Amino acid sequence: MSAGKRKFDLHLHCANCQRPSVKHVELPVGEGVPSTVDEFVDMLEYQPVPFICRHCDSTIGTLVAVTMEGEEPRAEPAVATA
Ligand SMILES: [Zn+2]
Repeated sequence: MSAGKRKFDLHLHCANCQRPSVKHVELPVGEGVPSTVDEFVDMLEYQPVPFICRHCDSTIGTLVAVTMEGEEPRAEPAVATA
């Protein structure tokens, strides 16, 4: 196991100029660090990532998608089982 970082991309939509933005977030791998997109989204509810639109400097953005780098895209859809 090598120490690494988890890289997430936040895909945002600026509320002011309506342009899409992508914000890269890197987190050191460790205890309590989200390992999936779902966990990352949960974390964002408690620790919002500051957003500044690079086009118009607006600080209001709508989160439209989150992706995680370094993971192979899965061919089959993830099915949650209880
Ligand atoms: Zn903007």
